Amino acid sequence: MKSLWNDEAAAAFSDDDLGMRVYSSRLLGSDENLVMHGGGNTSVKATTNDFFGRALKVLYVKGSGWDLKTIEKPGFPAIKLQETQMLAELETLSDTDMTQQLRVLMLDPSAPSPSVEAILHAILPSKFIDHTHTDAIITLSNNPQGKRILEAVFPDCLILPYVMPGFILSRQVNQAIKQNDPNHYKGIILMHHGVFTYSDEAKIAYENMIELASRAEVYITENGTTLIATAEHEVDLLGLARIRNAVSLARGEAQLAILDRSPDAQGYSTLDTVAEISSRGPITPDHVIRTKRIPVVIGATPAKGVPEIHQYVTDYKKYFEENRTPQLQILDPAPRVGIWRNAGSIAFGSGVKECNIVADICLLYTSPSPRD
Ligand SMILES: [Zn+2]
Repeated sequence: MKSLWNDEAAAAFSDDDLGMRVYSSRLLGSDENLVMHGGGNTSVKATTNDFFGRALKVLYVKGSGWDLKTIEKPGFPAIKLQETQMLAELETLSDTDMTQQLRVLMLDPSAPSPSVEAILHAILPSKFIDHTHTDAIITLSNNPQGKRILEAVFPDCLILPYVMPGFILSRQVNQAIKQNDPNHYKGIILMHHGVFTYSDEAKIAYENMIELASRAEVYITENGTTLIATAEHEVDLLGLARIRNAVSLARGEAQLAILDRSPDAQGYSTLDTVAEISSRGPITPDHVIRTKRIPVVIGATPAKGVPEIHQYVTDYKKYFEENRTPQLQILDPAPRVGIWRNAGSIAFGSGVKECNIVADICLLYTSPSPRD
């Protein structure tokens, strides 16, 4: 992975801190190995004037609905820095209260809601904070030996165990950085989640991210194995139509389906262990909102009505009931990803955009080696 930083291009954004934030956020967003489809988030701390003209320290943090690749200044709502930091000191904070409090702290109530990771951005002391769910580092982390490998590859990083993103994660990091000065580390790696880099210089925060991701890529190239499993099968169009119909009925609206028949995707679908290895959960929680927790695995010759999809719906409802809390509302129970035995992987979506996003993430799962 190479740094895309260009001093000349950066100069065009250098009028203010938020401008530099836009520039390096777009660099991060332009590399799919770092962030995909609205994933990752960035922030900058700055001083602005409130309505009465008083100087106020604020955190500009990525707002929901924005993509780092194309983000602009309005994509970074300003929230009061000090009060946001105080939230991390609370013992508990529900998701609902956190979302509400972050909105209360916004300078412009019509701006988009701040990222759920806003509190974490606020407590890290540096000016520029970069956060990605980079494939290569998560790949090392999502391994039975993950902790040992990360410690060997990243002796200069603070490595923290997985906790739920949101307030719990902010609190964990807040406690960790009280014991370990983050300025002594090049970055913070969150197991099974992603990476934070930070600096008072936008360029350093960005280039540290690139350097850490590159280190993981080198490790994978030197120590990884490539899975060679290819297959060639004709497409069973009737079977595909049955699958699409069953998923549409489960979701309650017509679904598009993209079948990936690349050698990697087909080979993956032929593995005897595919049902087990495809159901271990997503690479990073960031993907859950796109792909659901697990895919549906469909037999090579789908029967009428595709019972596997009925079973998926039943299991999804059961899973929700087992884990429900009063604030949670069940989503539609339809799968977003299918592994079709011997045929490949299928991305489902209500429109072309959704389908393409899911297909991109499927590619990540079925491709045995890191993409170029
Ligand atoms: Zn994250």
